[in-house]
Amino acid sequence: RITLVSGLCRSQFSPTSSVRVSSGTRVRCYSRGFSASAAREKPRLVILGSGWGGYEVLRSVDKKRWDVTMISPSNYFNFTPLLASCAVGTLEFRAAVEPVRRYTPEVIAYQAWCDSIDFNRKVLKCMPATPPTPFSAAPSAPITESGTTVQFPGNGKTFNVTYDKLIIAVGAYSQTFDVPGVKEHAHFLKDIRDARAIRTRVLECFEQANQPTITDENRRKLLHFCIAGGGPTGVEFAAELHDLLRTDIERHYPHLAKMARISLFDVAPVILGSFDGGLQEFATQKFHREGIRILTRHHVERVEPGRMFVKEIGEGWSGSTLSADHPFGLITELVPFGLLVWSTGLAPNPLIQSITEVEKDPKSSSLITDDHLNVILKESGKPDSNVYAIGDAATIKGAPLPATAQVANQKAKYLTKKLNVIIKDSKHLVPFKFHNAGSLAYIGDWEAIYDGTKVARGPKTRGTGRIAWLLWRSAYFTRTVSIRNKILVPVYWFMNWIFGRDLSRF
Ligand code: FAD
Repeated sequence: RITLVSGLCRSQFSPTSSVRVSSGTRVRCYSRGFSASAAREKPRLVILGSGWGGYEVLRSVDKKRWDVTMISPSNYFNFTPLLASCAVGTLEFRAAVEPVRRYTPEVIAYQAWCDSIDFNRKVLKCMPATPPTPFSAAPSAPITESGTTVQFPGNGKTFNVTYDKLIIAVGAYSQTFDVPGVKEHAHFLKDIRDARAIRTRVLECFEQANQPTITDENRRKLLHFCIAGGGPTGVEFAAELHDLLRTDIERHYPHLAKMARISLFDVAPVILGSFDGGLQEFATQKFHREGIRILTRHHVERVEPGRMFVKEIGEGWSGSTLSADHPFGLITELVPFGLLVWSTGLAPNPLIQSITEVEKDPKSSSLITDDHLNVILKESGKPDSNVYAIGDAATIKGAPLPATAQVANQKAKYLTKKLNVIIKDSKHLVPFKFHNAGSLAYIGDWEAIYDGTKVARGPKTRGTGRIAWLLWRSAYFTRTVSIRNKILVPVYWFMNWIFGRDLSRF
């Protein structure tokens, strides 16, 4: 047995991995103890992000052909359409996540951020997304091999990873329009951790309001639930919260349920702007009937702990930002709240912002790709055949698509097909084509809306009420990834229907 410390083992190696060198001698490699991959015979595919785009590639790419590395700050995939349900306890958190570790040790996975990309050297600089360990005083020397320098993860130091092919699927961040106080005092709904924080806060508001020492005026303030953003996420959260208030909260806190209010603010003149006009009207009327206040043409100016300043905007204004002395601004109102959920669209991911070598869309700042999903290099104006970008972080040149899970997932499936056949035959692949399956939004009380007007024409392209709700539930049930969640999701729906939601605050 020969002990090899560096040099011959071309890839990152595990304490027990064995490789065969040319003479046929078996060599046992000893590493610094954190990675697992046999000798690099296969090209290395690195996936950035474990969301709708990245996770689909991770799941379906042929691991016998590719030496796959996943780099993502979350070691799970969020099933985003179910986050609003999790935030109010209709579903348990684990039903909306899929672990990345399901695919290890076949693939290498680092819970880390990619900080920068060197497109020429094909090197990624990464930063551990785990807290620093208390043992980081004397880190071992980095392992270096063909441009890959790896240091102990967890000590806060960066490490580099090389790639042969790279998939950028880092998604986008929540847009705040730099409204002061939003990041500090509002909740977002992008991740399962956000859903957990929202659920804890909703229940905390009721327990706080239930204290005998509190006045009714303060109870009303605490039980005012505000949502900024009338897109599908804001609307679905309002609907799910309303379901919670009208069922389990009414049952267990009847005196407080009467004081609870939901207000939905949007700067635009209508909610659900991406939906057909008739469906917007249907949802608006339903919310009015249910007592959910819709305050369109309202601009949140500043957020402070437990209150925000909101300005109503006159009819003549059309745009997305507003200066303090805008002529169309009317009165500024002080709005107290117990919880504010902020969902006003997407802002570029900092990694995407830091990339200067690739063409970007001037409006969304996302990476521009060709219709084979390769990024387009600024200098040459040509696609980089080794780098793909998908999901919310990317847009196809001349054919922008909505930032949805549907698009991200279809692009990932297209890419997987491409990667799985690339070694055999790279010619026969056609450009990516999006097949729109329509849009769905839950609007509460077992009702939903379905908009298929962009898919086809005719009376059956729009749906409302229970039928649309059944479509909504079956669509998301069939799209759940694992067998575990295909069982868990309907089981939780059924349990919640029979026993109600769990109102314990952990
Ligand atoms: P994401 O799914 O956001 O994944 C990005 C991944 O990249 C994450 O794992 C993140 O941790 C990781 N990452 C971030 N920065 C880095 C970095 N520097 N290095 C490495 N990794 C990084 N769309 C629909 O079509 N239908 C719906 O019903 C629907 N409902 C939604 C409900 C909610 C509450 C939300 C928030 C979104 C919803 N969407 C829906 C939109 C959909 O979720 C997004 O369009 C989709 O997630 C985009 O996929 P993505 O892979 O580009 O990014």
